[in-house]
Amino acid sequence: MAPTGIVLEHVRKEYPDGTVAVADLDLTVNSGEVMALVGPSGCGKSTTLRMVNRLIEPTSGVIRVAGEDVMAQDPVTLRRGIGYVIQNVGLFPHRTVEQNVGTVPGLLGWDKAETSARVAELLELVGLPVDTYGLRYPHELSGGERQRVGVARALAVRPPVLLMDEPFGAVDPQGRRRLQKEFAALQRELGTTVMMVTHDIREAVLLADRVAVFSRGGRLEQLDVPEQVTEHPANDFVADFVADFAS
Ligand code: ADP
Repeated sequence: MAPTGIVLEHVRKEYPDGTVAVADLDLTVNSGEVMALVGPSGCGKSTTLRMVNRLIEPTSGVIRVAGEDVMAQDPVTLRRGIGYVIQNVGLFPHRTVEQNVGTVPGLLGWDKAETSARVAELLELVGLPVDTYGLRYPHELSGGERQRVGVARALAVRPPVLLMDEPFGAVDPQGRRRLQKEFAALQRELGTTVMMVTHDIREAVLLADRVAVFSRGGRLEQLDVPEQVTEHPANDFVADFVADFAS
């Protein structure tokens, strides 16, 4: 099977104002693995995620997705092949649920029948049957339903890699747990490689195969399976972070 992982080597991002968001990061997300990036706000998690699909350009270092250097690829083509889910989703407000999920397949030139079949399949998977929800507009959905549409849209073209930034943040706590569980089942079924940013350590423990704890400047304080991070924090920084959110 082709490699679908994400590899960052000596990645640095210095913003034009001199802020070093990520100083020198080495990180590998293996094929089919879910990795959660956690840590206090401002420590470079989102910057790291967004360098993978080139929404932000690294200052130096190399990032490979499925073995290919992202800087050698056209950013638009690259992004169409990488699912991206963010808080509040960013659905197109004037397009129906069906059209939202079918957008990228359409851009990639899938034929109509293939796109409709895929859209129906995905909406079913995320619990929003197309017969009921397909023709609704985003404003006719609850926050949790919108988030599901966002996940369905991101998975429409079967991307080998999915990036998620606080994907369930906008959903109420009860709905969030349900969505998280459903997402975990979906990911296992599809084998997608996932890099996700969350401030919620419980979300990280529930969903991730490994957790990367960041401190300022994109420094890795600990990278391990969730139980190790929560039960055996590598240092006081990790212990404090885990204690803050696990209580
Ligand atoms: P996190 O996702 O962990 O909250 P970010 O990656 O968003 O962290 O930000 C890391 C650091 O980079 C912060 O100090 C933030 O203020 C800074 N930063 C983020 N975006 C920009 C930008 N466009 N210009 C300058 N500094 C930025």
